[in-house]
Amino acid sequence: MNEFDTKTGGPVIADGIDILQVNVGLTCNQACIHCHLSCSPARKESMSWETMKQVLALADQIKPSMVDITGGAPELNAHLKDLIVRLKQRGFAMQVRTNLSAMEEPGLTDFPEFFADNKVGLVASMPCYLEENVSAMRGGKCFSSSVSVLRKLNELGYGTQDGLTIDLVFNPAVGPNLPPSQSALEGDYKREMKERYDIVFNRLLTITNVPIGRYMDELKEKGQDHQYMELLTESFNPATVDGLMCRHQVNIGWDGRLYDCDFNQALGLPVNHGTPDRIEDLDLNQLVHRQVVTGRHCFACTAGAGSSCGGAIQK
Ligand code: SF4
Ligand code: SF4
Repeated sequence: MNEFDTKTGGPVIADGIDILQVNVGLTCNQACIHCHLSCSPARKESMSWETMKQVLALADQIKPSMVDITGGAPELNAHLKDLIVRLKQRGFAMQVRTNLSAMEEPGLTDFPEFFADNKVGLVASMPCYLEENVSAMRGGKCFSSSVSVLRKLNELGYGTQDGLTIDLVFNPAVGPNLPPSQSALEGDYKREMKERYDIVFNRLLTITNVPIGRYMDELKEKGQDHQYMELLTESFNPATVDGLMCRHQVNIGWDGRLYDCDFNQALGLPVNHGTPDRIEDLDLNQLVHRQVVTGRHCFACTAGAGSSCGGAIQK
């Protein structure tokens, strides 16, 4: 067993598939410094309609409580609307992880109405309520775009109407930092977003930065990579292990490869330990009870209150 499995009393074994996470591509209109998948406008990897049909068939088999669509900027995949319409016809709850600013790109400005019409939950990156901090992480005019799209979503009923949820995501700035208490920070965000920009939202999700990809490059450049790994391992919290998201979800890459999570996808580590790793070859029974592929990066999920795509593990 590796260091992480030993620490968790592992190995880590999956316990069903509650969430089907689908990464529809790595193309993004932004190139944030904390991006674990190193997405950018230069990336061209995008899920085909053929693979999406296999995703729909898998969803029919698994019947997840949530289909969680991520990227890149999912709006940049030409088949996203077709996928959402088919998922809705089948009655699946779904959410899209959006950077907001993509919805201001030419040809994509009708997405707020489309998402509202199809009752798609939204999970939106907003690493701070202060413009200078967001611009430092995400660049340029991203903050003003995000505020403008959030206002439009609020006008459509997001944040106030049943079935139109919008959650914001906080990541700490680059450096040896864990997120603060999710519930305390949510209070600050709700107050500041309302007072400063007249914006409302449902929940704040705090996500610990995983030391991989462009984020790890930044840490190394600052000479803080060892310090950050030490912080993560020293902050190990055994109470987070049952709630690790890889135990309750599977992640599908743009090319139909299966992963335990989006972070393993970023590292090129598909499901393993004998479990077939392509959607067309899958063995559902094996997938549901698979041994998770872990490594040192996994300590980001067990540090402090724990971290997952759904925010802190210990609320
Ligand atoms: S963090 Fe999100 S918005 Fe930023 S480059 Fe990555 S996928 Fe795009
Ligand atoms: S990084 Fe992925 S595989 Fe590792 S503990 Fe977190 S969710 Fe599980």
